[in-house]
Amino acid sequence: MFELHPFQGDIIRELRQGYAAGHRRQMCALATGGGKTVVASHLIRSASAKGNRSIFIVDRIELVNQAADTLQAVGLRVGVMQAGNTWLHCDDEVIVGTRQTFAARGVPPAGFAIIDEAHVLAKDHIKLMEAWNRVPFIGLSATPLRPDLGGHFTNLVRGPTVAWLTEQGFLTPARAFCPGSESIERAISGVKLKRGDFVSSELADAMNTKALIGDIIATWTEKAIDRPTLVFAVDIAHSKSVIADFVDAGVSAAHIDAYTRPDERKDIIASFKAGEIRVLSSVNVLGIGFDYPGASCAILARPTLSEALHMQQLGRVIRRADGKADALILDHAGNTLRFGLPIHFEVPDLGKGEHQAASKKKAEKRMVACSHCGAVMESDQFTCSSCGIDRPGRKSKVVYRDGRLVEYGSGDDGTAVFSVEDRRGWYQAFRWYAERRGWKDGWAFHAFLAKFGGMKPPFAWKLFPGIQPSDEQARWIRHYQIRSAKRRAA
Ligand SMILES: [Zn+2]
Repeated sequence: MFELHPFQGDIIRELRQGYAAGHRRQMCALATGGGKTVVASHLIRSASAKGNRSIFIVDRIELVNQAADTLQAVGLRVGVMQAGNTWLHCDDEVIVGTRQTFAARGVPPAGFAIIDEAHVLAKDHIKLMEAWNRVPFIGLSATPLRPDLGGHFTNLVRGPTVAWLTEQGFLTPARAFCPGSESIERAISGVKLKRGDFVSSELADAMNTKALIGDIIATWTEKAIDRPTLVFAVDIAHSKSVIADFVDAGVSAAHIDAYTRPDERKDIIASFKAGEIRVLSSVNVLGIGFDYPGASCAILARPTLSEALHMQQLGRVIRRADGKADALILDHAGNTLRFGLPIHFEVPDLGKGEHQAASKKKAEKRMVACSHCGAVMESDQFTCSSCGIDRPGRKSKVVYRDGRLVEYGSGDDGTAVFSVEDRRGWYQAFRWYAERRGWKDGWAFHAFLAKFGGMKPPFAWKLFPGIQPSDEQARWIRHYQIRSAKRRAA
């Protein structure tokens, strides 16, 4: 029940070391799927063993029961403080409540505090941290990106990255498509910026057009029709138009927002989990709090300049679930081009208050979309990971030679020039060789890196079958193996 994975043990150890070094305010960055509950309950149990009760502060009323249930499920004695729903016992190990309730009704005495979703850090939190200056606080967040967090927390403990968790099978891999990125860019080019993000009202006008919504339905029908899907829209009107068009197309779809009656919301979410509703759209409700790991497609319809919001949304579909092989991101907002896929996310140091200029963020692009199929890939990738074609415009001009990017045709000094097909051929040969020996794909990956000077093979090449190496390739592999063996021996 309290079984810790080694990486979770490392996190707890680092937090303890931080405390021993005098840090009373620590931020723990834990990705989706990093076992937040396990880590939190372990900390609460340790505090309890020393005679300290804990408080667990959640951000919204919807999260109170969810948090109380999960903490109870791991065997803790849990109290709840909430208007009309207060359950306190004298031997509670932890009391769960929202920051609003604690601020309004007073916080029960406690010797340890955890702030959930601490990237939100509100005035209530800050006041409490100031008032309880001797009590240790730990903030939990998947995205501790708010630029002033460094002013409130003195230590950051990072859990494993999304990339590592995905590699280890704790999260499902995600692919993204961003079709029609030019029309999105056009639509949002005039939208004003405020406090680091787009102004919602203007954004809604820009995105709420038949053309953009039509693309959403068409793309989903083509790529994700069999997937339980979450839509992230700009505002209520926009969300409702998207859903209306899904319904017009004969798809069972629903919209929920903060004004949806709680019982109705519960019904809708239950129908979604049961597969009766296949597309569920919202503005903010799904961003935080609602959890259904089976959802395997996210439609991004709200352009944002907030990397935290982007990651919170993607986090909803990368959780592991039975029968779920991967997650599909249909990006009609251009957000993945700006911020990348979940595996690209890394937690930076805590901010010291400096904001990055929004206009600069808007202009930055780390990824590109294939102009043929819309697949999102790294901007230095030359072959589309999805359709396998070379990115137009790059096709005949550049190739890799000995790991360096060169103009096509400059190999007339006698050294080999590799086209994309050549390179893929080498990868397939490495695959064949590894498969025969029962080795992992990683071997082919590393052989490819060695052959092409650190250039990575596109992810989609895994879908191509192994091909028996040519004499030349077999020779190279033999030398590579000898070199590797020598390096290991050394
Ligand atoms: Zn493509």
